[in-house]
Amino acid sequence: MTWTLMIHGGCGAMRPATLSPDAEERARSGLEAALDAGAAVLSSGGSALDAVEVAARVLEDDPAFNAGRGSVLTTDGRCELDAAIMDGRDRRAGAVAGMTTTRAPISAARAALEHSPHVLLTYAGADAFAREQGLEQVENGFFITAERQAQLDKVMAAGGKFDTDIKYGTIGAVAVDSAGHVAAATSTGGLTAKRWGRIGDSPLIGAGTYADDRAAAVSATGLGEAFIRAVGAHQLAMRMMIGGESLQAALDAVLADVVALGGNGGLIAVAPSGEAAWGFTTPGMYRARADTDGREVHVFGE
Ligand code: ASP
Repeated sequence: MTWTLMIHGGCGAMRPATLSPDAEERARSGLEAALDAGAAVLSSGGSALDAVEVAARVLEDDPAFNAGRGSVLTTDGRCELDAAIMDGRDRRAGAVAGMTTTRAPISAARAALEHSPHVLLTYAGADAFAREQGLEQVENGFFITAERQAQLDKVMAAGGKFDTDIKYGTIGAVAVDSAGHVAAATSTGGLTAKRWGRIGDSPLIGAGTYADDRAAAVSATGLGEAFIRAVGAHQLAMRMMIGGESLQAALDAVLADVVALGGNGGLIAVAPSGEAAWGFTTPGMYRARADTDGREVHVFGE
């Protein structure tokens, strides 16, 4: 019985010289905990869909990452949360964007996949749906941490311009289960100082999240606008399916396309064969992988 789980906690400018040992340790232990949760599902014969949801949920609840608690703030100091999940077996998908009160956006996306006739729900309607589904509701302040508030203050003091030293802390998980099915999940607070109801790539099926048993399951992090324009996650799968490219070649080509559009970012992907790949155009990316043979956790570009 073989399976593979790959997760990311975002990419960015982290280097050994600039990332504090404490921040590195917090990120590493968060990734370990998410691997534990997802691997427990897969090693007992569970589905890739369940595994990516539980792994994403652990990372959402961890304030070290830009998803759920610890999400970045909009210009008016709120968290607006986006998430998507997709099942490679039948390409069923659920997504939510602009949520402000639902504790586990990835589970709201899963509920949309299972219990809604729609794929993408947004803002107050998405939270109302999640509430109807019995998902825990919290005050928006629950998501806000002092660290994210300080980041917003810094960006606003600089005139609201995006920080070039940015760390994209979105989280994602992709898995292939012992039946050979793939699934993908992505969850994020988006970009610091976003406004006007901005929605990034993460909850958009085909941009930041995609899963198709005929090719791969994919989750992205980075400048969402570039991934939307590149239709990054879907492009990766189609390069494999139609273009016959290998998983790693397709992933590298999508990242090159994102860079050509002025963006930066990272991708994780798995294929039904069990093959797994990652890549990023920033100095580092929080990333980890587990399979039947063991696990690895990385932060820097090594
Ligand atoms: N891709 C996310 C977005 O643009 C940001 C991130 O990866 O941290 O919303």
